[in-house]
Amino acid sequence: MPGFVTDKVALVTGGGSGIGRATALTFAREGARVVVSDVVAEAGRETVRLIAEAGDEARFVAADVSRAAEVEALVAGCVEAYGRLDCAHNNAGIEGPGAQTVDYDEAAWERVIAINLTGVWLCMKYEIPAMLKHGGGAIVNTSSAAGLLGFRGGSAYVASKHGVLGLTKTAALEYAKAGLRVNAVCPGAIDTPMMGRITGHKPQRAERMAASEPVGRMGNPQEIAEAVVWLCSDAASFVTGHAMSVDGGLVVQ
Ligand code: NAP
Repeated sequence: MPGFVTDKVALVTGGGSGIGRATALTFAREGARVVVSDVVAEAGRETVRLIAEAGDEARFVAADVSRAAEVEALVAGCVEAYGRLDCAHNNAGIEGPGAQTVDYDEAAWERVIAINLTGVWLCMKYEIPAMLKHGGGAIVNTSSAAGLLGFRGGSAYVASKHGVLGLTKTAALEYAKAGLRVNAVCPGAIDTPMMGRITGHKPQRAERMAASEPVGRMGNPQEIAEAVVWLCSDAASFVTGHAMSVDGGLVVQ
């Protein structure tokens, strides 16, 4: 049975962990050939191994999304490997430290913005021309519930994720007539290694995080992956510029 993205070529950044790994596996399950990218080669290669184990096709290309030359080489690597690029999940991100706005460390601020916001822009900068060469494509950027709401102590992260939505809407308008769709997902609290760091691996903190979700639990990475792959598929052909909350009802409370 054909999958949602049969015969497409998909790129996933931050594909070695959490949401990115789940999306890479789901793209492969739904018929795409996948380029898994991460700054951590070992983790990204493990995702490729898991995809191969399921009998699907993927390869790893290392890249730090905050470095333009590496992102340019990453997109060139996709085209070199598979001849085209159809779908991209620009997902790599970091949480940064927690601190009040006035106490936020300047270097930490710059790192969060460089990876979470500039990284998404750099990915689109190189992905869009590659996609347009073959008539278009679909991009999904990972924002967050923190792209829609403020969270105390998270100024850089919140600003970066709001910025991702601004970039998403702008690119969606710019390329709407060119056959290229650009959307974002806004996950709520998702049980990933990042969440483990945020809760300090303390069960009580994780329970409080789960309790903040109207559904009474955290989401799992697969629940984000399903939304991303659907948004990238032709089933979502009239959806562009959308910020899709996948958050158990978090932002509508
Ligand atoms: P994760 O488990 O930490 O995975 C993120 C991956 O991105 C890691 O492999 C990480 O490598 C990689 N990465 C970090 N900096 C990078 C860089 N400069 N270039 C390329 N890759 C880099 O986190 P996750 O929870 O899956 O988060 C994925 C995305 O979802 C992030 O954008 C995050 O902000 C967003 N999000 C997460 C949640 C949540 O509750 N988990 C909620 C809303 C939004 P390292 O392990 O070396 O850092």
